[in-house]
Amino acid sequence: MKNPLIIANWKMKLAPQEAIDLAKKVKKASTKYKGAEVVLCPSFTELAEVGKIIDATGLKLGAQDCFWEEQGAFTGEISPKILQEYGVETVIIGHSERRTSLLETSQMIHKKARLVLSLGMRPVVCVGESFDERQEGLKDSIIIRQVHDALNGIWLNKMDSLVVAYEPIWVIGSGQDCDPEEIEHTHQVIRQALYDLFTEQVVDEQVKIIYGGSVDPENVSNYLSHATVHGVLIGTASWDATTFSAVVAGAIKP
Ligand code: PEP
Repeated sequence: MKNPLIIANWKMKLAPQEAIDLAKKVKKASTKYKGAEVVLCPSFTELAEVGKIIDATGLKLGAQDCFWEEQGAFTGEISPKILQEYGVETVIIGHSERRTSLLETSQMIHKKARLVLSLGMRPVVCVGESFDERQEGLKDSIIIRQVHDALNGIWLNKMDSLVVAYEPIWVIGSGQDCDPEEIEHTHQVIRQALYDLFTEQVVDEQVKIIYGGSVDPENVSNYLSHATVHGVLIGTASWDATTFSAVVAGAIKP
């Protein structure tokens, strides 16, 4: 894949100083990241500091979530408008950990995606099936429904861009590889679901479909060798600068 999108999801894994140290190390290594678009998503509390560290590098700042209103009495929530003021351009939405642990609904995910786009930022809408759903043969229908629920009725303006991340829940954090042929198939399913909602031109030019689930330095080039895989969303392998740089190297290798 030319210019793969690589999103590092630091989750709630790093203490403040660990996140700062990691950002500094990634910044140092980033001179070798040419040919990839790399987005770092720290915790909200480290956004400002990490933003300063990566300022004027090719690295971009992302967030792991946001609220669906710009402003108001929503104790504990983070407005995407505030994220934008911190330099965030990309916001992960509907991660399976939030769908499962925080009971985030498709309606919430839809509202978040809509607001993020309206502010000129790029949502990364996560979709994916559980192990049981896969065993029951429901994978494709679940994915199509998730794409439709998140994006139906949303309009993409000319300058907007959108990312859909296919993340099989049973692979996340497991260390397991996913069959690249299966990823390829599921990305085609996602693309078809997107064609139900947007014109072919919009999908082809403004939407990226990326894969997430135990991506590591060994499997990344295999995944990205498929034309339908435009990038990767990385958890575990992004929490160590050396491992993360090895993933980026694997992603951009000719
Ligand atoms: C994730 O949580 O989005 C993820 C892909 O995690 P991991 O790389 O650890 O599977």
